[in-house]
Amino acid sequence: MAFEIYNSLGKTKQTFEPLEPGKVRMYNCGPTVYGRAHIGNLRSFLFADLLRRWLEHLGYEVHQVMNITDVGHLVADEEEGEDKIEAQAKREGVDPYKIAREHEAQFHADLEALGVRKAWRYPRATDHVGEMLEMIDGLIEKGFAYQVGGNVYFDVSRFDRYGRLSGNRVEDLDAGARIEVNEEKRNPADFALWKEDAAHLMKWESRFGPDGFPGWHIECSAMARKHLGDRIDIHTGGEDNIFPHHECEIAQSECFTGAPFANYWMHAKFLQVDGGKMSKSLGNVYTVSDVVDRGYEPRVLRYSLLRGHYRQPLNFTWAVMDDSKKAIENLDRMFETLTRTAEGDEGAAAADAGAELVAAARAEFEAAMNDDLNVPRALAAVFTLRTQVNEGKLGATAAADGLAFLREVDDVLGVIRTEKIAGDDDAEIDALIAARKAARESKDWAESDRIRDELDARGILVEDGASGTTWRRR
Ligand code: AMP
Ligand code: ZN
Repeated sequence: MAFEIYNSLGKTKQTFEPLEPGKVRMYNCGPTVYGRAHIGNLRSFLFADLLRRWLEHLGYEVHQVMNITDVGHLVADEEEGEDKIEAQAKREGVDPYKIAREHEAQFHADLEALGVRKAWRYPRATDHVGEMLEMIDGLIEKGFAYQVGGNVYFDVSRFDRYGRLSGNRVEDLDAGARIEVNEEKRNPADFALWKEDAAHLMKWESRFGPDGFPGWHIECSAMARKHLGDRIDIHTGGEDNIFPHHECEIAQSECFTGAPFANYWMHAKFLQVDGGKMSKSLGNVYTVSDVVDRGYEPRVLRYSLLRGHYRQPLNFTWAVMDDSKKAIENLDRMFETLTRTAEGDEGAAAADAGAELVAAARAEFEAAMNDDLNVPRALAAVFTLRTQVNEGKLGATAAADGLAFLREVDDVLGVIRTEKIAGDDDAEIDALIAARKAARESKDWAESDRIRDELDARGILVEDGASGTTWRRR
């Protein structure tokens, strides 16, 4: 079964064919580390993780590179204006490197909390200025870029495929850019590769002058080339990266190397919150901490951000989080039921009953994921099987296979509790539950609270219902 990818370059679904059999070279545009990643950013990073997990599921060795932008990304993605990191450093009155390193560490902690697999490499822009200058030199030599004083610009009129990714036409871009004329540029739509600015705090000496810093776009071209080579298989980002960022990356990389840059471009649609844009003024720019503070496990956020198709707009609300929580708890329970059935503790069906149901679910799940990572369709297959499990249609052998299938699903989605439910300490926990019941009956609230805390520390969820107390592992 072939993996079909919707390629933003050409806007069609295409069968994935790697440059080298068995191996995938993938570059993901990473965070600009001036602030903590919000759930919108996280949607894009989780999409990259999903893609990487699916490629690994298909048997590929994935060389995944996600960059850390720690200089050169200007406010509002514009050509002129303040550097996002420096602007934050000034607001806080601290060194920009401090801002960048702290948020980079936070970024890694957030990804870990969300169960994101570590990328092969996380290169930082500031560690690759030499590689950027090498590309800039080459582009000038080949006539694609030009120097004016301490600045260097890419000449968009020299690359006739400029605009192919985004659908923009150079004439229209020129007309738009004329509003704020930069006299130095040959064409209004030209973009900066290197900028001279004595006031910039993060700056490097080069043959163009003593105080320069790189443009945001050249950073990704240089880091992709350094770590993955002149040609790569897949390049991802959020939809706002299509223009100008990725359009400019293609121009720089292809003019420098003379070879096609990335074969497949994939872009995640923007996450919305409460049906609109996230904004500081609306107070809805949420982070992992906001979610945890409201009592949700990070995996609930992971599920909420992955459960839609990456090319569909996705709306975040707290009601969606509640639905997601229920959904993954249902998957946890499905795992538990399958475990008991496989061990012969539950279910009356003949051992081999329901084998075809598991096979059908697996086939549908794989087909859905191969169809441009269609997660909603893939999840529907899992929940159909869940209903069949609850109806007792699976025997022990089929349940064992169902369990294997659920592990495969989790290898890709990373949201289900798949650790063994029956622990060695079951008897101890039963005893604690009984002791808690006795304490409550004798109104010894301090003791019952103490036991509850101990159970909580062991990761046990206690549920007091009408017919008594039940417990399960978190
Ligand atoms: P930045 O840290 O601004 O460089 O953004 C990091 C990544 O997050 C980029 O790939 C953006 O395209 C992506 N991104 C930003 N906002 C959103 C959003 N609301 N939904 C999805 N992705 C986003
Ligand atoms: Zn980038």
